[in-house]
Amino acid sequence: MRAINTIRHMDELGRITIPHEVREHFGWRDGAVFQVFIGDQSVILRRHDIEPNSHCFLCGSTEKLLNLPGDERKMCFDCWDNTR
Ligand SMILES: [Zn+2]
Repeated sequence: MRAINTIRHMDELGRITIPHEVREHFGWRDGAVFQVFIGDQSVILRRHDIEPNSHCFLCGSTEKLLNLPGDERKMCFDCWDNTR
């Protein structure tokens, strides 16, 4: 994960503006739909329409994924290790 040199304040409705450089980098336009994941000390936004079930349903990672038997969702090895 890479930090960018930007600090944003949340407004009274809980909204935070995603910095322009981030939106441009990912090609995000208004109306984009996101899935929100909660980590230990972070929140992860992932485009919801990229590809269903292409990420870990717990942390949002797209690397080292396992197919769960009898379940369409996927889990990464790191989350698998943390649940055992
Ligand atoms: Zn995971």
